[in-house]
Amino acid sequence: MFNALILTQEGKSTLANVGQLQVSDLPEGEVLVDVSCSSLNYKDGLAVTGIGRIIRNFPMVPGIDFAGVVIESSDLRYKAGDRVILTGWGVGENHWGGMAQKARVNADWLVPMPEACDAEKAMMIGTAGLTAMLCVQALQEANIQPESGDILVTGASGGVGSVAVTLLAQLGYKVVASTGRAEENSELLRSLGAAEVIERSELEQDTRPLEKQRWAGVVDTVGNKVLATALAQMNYGGAAAICGLAGGFALPTTVMPFILRGVRLLGVDSVSCPFEKRQAAWKQVLELLPESYYQAAGQTITLDQVPEYADKIVKGQVTGRVLVKL
Ligand code: NDP
Repeated sequence: MFNALILTQEGKSTLANVGQLQVSDLPEGEVLVDVSCSSLNYKDGLAVTGIGRIIRNFPMVPGIDFAGVVIESSDLRYKAGDRVILTGWGVGENHWGGMAQKARVNADWLVPMPEACDAEKAMMIGTAGLTAMLCVQALQEANIQPESGDILVTGASGGVGSVAVTLLAQLGYKVVASTGRAEENSELLRSLGAAEVIERSELEQDTRPLEKQRWAGVVDTVGNKVLATALAQMNYGGAAAICGLAGGFALPTTVMPFILRGVRLLGVDSVSCPFEKRQAAWKQVLELLPESYYQAAGQTITLDQVPEYADKIVKGQVTGRVLVKL
């Protein structure tokens, strides 16, 4: 028997309780993994609280991420003892996920854990950190260089945001961090490398189709008005890597930044990101993220604390990354 967080549905409510499962309860898959850590992402918050209605089949084990060691594998790419990471692919949404001491998944969904990594580090990074890296790579591929100008990161106190601030600063970019919690988190954001911290409310005002040019690049985790304002303020030829909807999925913008300033919108997805790109992003994020990030912006919780933290993350009250120790 092993411990798992199990989601069930009662009427329209989602209930989350720690319970016991056995290996025979696990869904089909080629690789059985002894999971030592998972992490809490915004999407886990939506799943565990039921707010997001992203779980269709109950009971469900949540957890879109995990790290652990292979117990057995019918796929030749993996053998017992291999250290592996999983993020995305609908795990923790429609296939039982990482918030359990064991998981059985398809081999295609796994990434071998890089030598320089351990399970705790991998999950301090998790989906959020991987996505931050993919956003930074998207800006680099769009030829946004440190000398191009300022880079805005929205939702900067969150998981994706705080890693993006750190990675960009490490690469020599001048980062402006936008947050709804400037009073609480300015010091942290500056310690991670933000040159400037601005209030989220500055970007939530009604905006004209084009505003004064301010940003060479944007990493947006928030969407909605904040992103619309950022787009109106982009420099000629700038690029915005967008991955999130913490402020809503709407995008109340106009075509003006795109057709008059050549602004580029770069969509970033980590869930179905192909293996080679994923592996390259893991390698780079591990190289770039300094030890100080984990100490300053990481916290560790246990399985029974997940419901409380899930509630907090959907309310925008979690700072940095949350590791779930199993
Ligand atoms: P977090 O909750 O850790 O971070 C989100 C941040 O957004 C918060 O910390 C807060 O930052 C800000 N925020 C919260 N609520 C609001 C609001 N109502 N209006 C404006 N800003 C708000 O989540 P993650 O970092 O895990 O994820 C961020 C977003 O990215 C989510 O929407 C998530 O679904 C998405 N995502 C997408 C991925 C992809 O593959 N495309 C992968 C991973 C995440 P502050 O207080 O500093 O303003």
